[in-house]
Amino acid sequence: MKTYAYGFPRLGKNREYKKIIENFWKGQATQEEVESMLSRTQDNMLLTYSGCLDSFPVGEITGYDQLLDTAIMLGLYNPKSLSDYYDLCRGKNALEMTKWFNTNYHYLVPDFSFMDTSHFKYTRNKPREDFEKYNRGIPFLIGPFTFLKLSKGISKNDFGEYLFKIVEIYSQILEELESAHIHHIHIEEPAFVMELSPDEIDLIKKAYGIMGKVGCGINLITYYDSVDFLQDLYELPVQSIGLDFVNGKENLENIKKTGFPGDKMLIAGIVNGRNVWKTNIKAAVAVLEELSQYAKSIVASNGAPLYHLPLTLAGEELGEALTKRLSFAEEKIEEIRAIAGFFETKQIPQESFSQKLGEKGKMQSRVKELKESDFNKEMSIEARCKLQGKILNLPLFPTTTIGSYPQTEEIRKKRADFRARRITPEEYDAFIKLKITELIKFQEELGLDVLVHGEFERTDMVEFFAQKLDGIATTKKGWIISYGTRAYRPPIIFGDVTRPEKMTVNEIMFAQSLTTKPVKGMLTGAVTIIAWSFVRDDIPLRDVAYQIGLCLKDEIRDYEKGGIKIVQIDEAAFREKAPIKRKDWPEFFDWAVKSFRLTTNTDPGTQIHSHMCYSEFGEIVEQIERMDFDVISIEAARSKGDIIESFEKGNFRQQIGLGIWDIHSPAIPTLEDMEAIVKRALENIPKNKFWINPDCGLKTRDWPETKKALRNLVKLAAKLRQESF
Ligand code: GLN
Ligand code: ZN
Repeated sequence: MKTYAYGFPRLGKNREYKKIIENFWKGQATQEEVESMLSRTQDNMLLTYSGCLDSFPVGEITGYDQLLDTAIMLGLYNPKSLSDYYDLCRGKNALEMTKWFNTNYHYLVPDFSFMDTSHFKYTRNKPREDFEKYNRGIPFLIGPFTFLKLSKGISKNDFGEYLFKIVEIYSQILEELESAHIHHIHIEEPAFVMELSPDEIDLIKKAYGIMGKVGCGINLITYYDSVDFLQDLYELPVQSIGLDFVNGKENLENIKKTGFPGDKMLIAGIVNGRNVWKTNIKAAVAVLEELSQYAKSIVASNGAPLYHLPLTLAGEELGEALTKRLSFAEEKIEEIRAIAGFFETKQIPQESFSQKLGEKGKMQSRVKELKESDFNKEMSIEARCKLQGKILNLPLFPTTTIGSYPQTEEIRKKRADFRARRITPEEYDAFIKLKITELIKFQEELGLDVLVHGEFERTDMVEFFAQKLDGIATTKKGWIISYGTRAYRPPIIFGDVTRPEKMTVNEIMFAQSLTTKPVKGMLTGAVTIIAWSFVRDDIPLRDVAYQIGLCLKDEIRDYEKGGIKIVQIDEAAFREKAPIKRKDWPEFFDWAVKSFRLTTNTDPGTQIHSHMCYSEFGEIVEQIERMDFDVISIEAARSKGDIIESFEKGNFRQQIGLGIWDIHSPAIPTLEDMEAIVKRALENIPKNKFWINPDCGLKTRDWPETKKALRNLVKLAAKLRQESF
């Protein structure tokens, strides 16, 4: 059995990718240096692939994002230099960023609002260049349908016309590949796993009908879920079809019903590209055996791009028991080879890890014993609002920030010193206290109404909690890219999650002791912790969420004992974690919403805030409302208040903090910029439910811009209050 893999991580062993590109932004690296790093990275990827596998793509490497590169190749954007290119990624002209399917990778969204099909141009044959440069691999492209489906600003009516324009260019690319004697192309169409309409499926058939005529053999790869239209997919004139049998559980069931076309090869994704657990070899071989009853020719592959995984286990110190169970990108590739080998020899070794890891009977029984009433607050939101109003006594248009403040070089260095034991815990603690003290003073001087402690002790909103909780491991070098050059290290939830001691209470209470204004307790919610971690798959996700929810609830109880009146629970990944197919939503949102309600079902006098960013709220407003918090702060700066429309319809009962400063951009918003967004929103949201705040935490910003922007924000609140009298 042959092997195939794709999507290998591009970050590099020492995050060279990030370092060199970011140096280029600072003027400390040249365009040539970036380009040679990209070539080297691509070379290394090919080396890893070819050391293990029969087939793999070439040309996956990107300077920032593959979707943007596709848009450039199609002539939609025309950067003249690398600086121009990065201007599209992160400058004033940056494209919008959004989550890639239900992953935590963000792509740049091509925008057709001000373009028509005349903008499409054949600019270059990137696949051919890639192949000729590296001399091996199967040239890579993002499929035309996925590209267009994930772009914005195209009406339903225009979709077909645009698609065929792209197909024209793709066909030309394929023709040239053919005449250059490059007979294969690797095309990824993850959007095929979405719930598509009959019209869309029809368009796909026509589009591939045209591209298939060229004769260049297409390996059409789908992933992240199952394809609902297998029968039609089989009719496409492609040479191979890639299906995900890990996260697309229905693919196998469907193949049993529909079979598999005899003239095509099945690229069987049997190794999980999205989770770190070692593949159960026996089960994977069994799937291949089942598949071989239907498909004549099969290759073993990964079920999703491998860039969702850290590079390698080498160098990690996760303990023997856990390490034995893990497999990162490099190890997954070896698994693919091993599985293909065992499929032939049938000499499958016994799995040696049958005993459970990190089971704590106490936590499992706490979850088992949960009753309906644990998820439901006794007091209605209206009554709570009154009660909290009396306790807090806030002005109209209360101002606040989302939690973090600039994470300066100084702070990062201290944290590194602390971790490396160059300073004592006492010294570190004193330093954090000093920073909190300075920040409380700053916020008081500025005149903000609800204060935060600044999150200086936190590296990352999930990793921090992962380190405090038992049952979750953190890695040393397990970085994965979340967008562009931004990387984070997802923790690994391997056992029952428990809270051995208070996690954040000391810092919050210290901050509160310095001021008479309310300081918000600051927690990351269970869904977000799960979404940004690798999670055990031996118990339902729901139970993991409830375990974490109970730990967070215990933390809130401790806040309350210490006199904290407001608690914010960040659920940045609430929307992202939702399954791709709508039919799977009810089950997900049921436990997602309930985990939040479980967490926050505490004293009704405690005002519960939630924060979400980068979400398309339209579709989930109802679910958000069911979370039954008191205040939500959301992103609105980028979408210029469009988000409000989502909330109007439902007659939202909770208070809303509209993010009127887009903190992902270095541009400083003026009072007028922010006022425009507020004015528009106030047409639909009553002013006594309206909070004023940035749209996310400020940790990536620097102090000078933070000061200026927040001053404008506070001034705006004062102006609004004045106008209301
Ligand atoms: N409280 C977090 C912060 O301010 C929230 C970050 C987020 O939502 N991404 O950094
Ligand atoms: Zn945010």
